[in-house]
Amino acid sequence: MSEQITAVDLKLLGEAIEVAGEAGARGDYPFGCVLADSEGTVIGRFGNSCFTSGDPTAHAEVGLMRDLGMQALGPVDLSKCTVYVNAEPCPMCAATMYFGGVRRIIFALGDERCRQITSRQPDAPHIEMEVRDLLGKAVQPVVILGPALEDEAAKVVDRYINGPN
Ligand SMILES: [Zn+2]
Repeated sequence: MSEQITAVDLKLLGEAIEVAGEAGARGDYPFGCVLADSEGTVIGRFGNSCFTSGDPTAHAEVGLMRDLGMQALGPVDLSKCTVYVNAEPCPMCAATMYFGGVRRIIFALGDERCRQITSRQPDAPHIEMEVRDLLGKAVQPVVILGPALEDEAAKVVDRYINGPN
């Protein structure tokens, strides 16, 4: 499990930012993630669907983990995969990925900067706990990398949270 961000990682992180934009464009929160194996092959992608599904727990990473019933693909060894997220995972998502077996997570937009953007939505629930603080207490180690591509990710979140201006 590489503890460095590679060029392949950056490409996949860019895809997660695209998925986030798609979620925002359909009226959900602008958050998205991509799951890829150690070769960089995309296995799954999921955008936030809180509004379109009516499920407040339908964050991108939770949706991804639920979707991994892996109908056609068969069981996936998530410990050898990476989840790419356009923004630092919240505690619910971080714990869900951990208990699902994910051991490498790369995020684009850091929590502090994301919070600056979303603070204009005072009713949006938020827990101030960085993913490294939470998963630093996990028994099995998790590689956590980020922020990376933060400006690109910030633009997408800002556009859909606060509007074009
Ligand atoms: Zn979340």
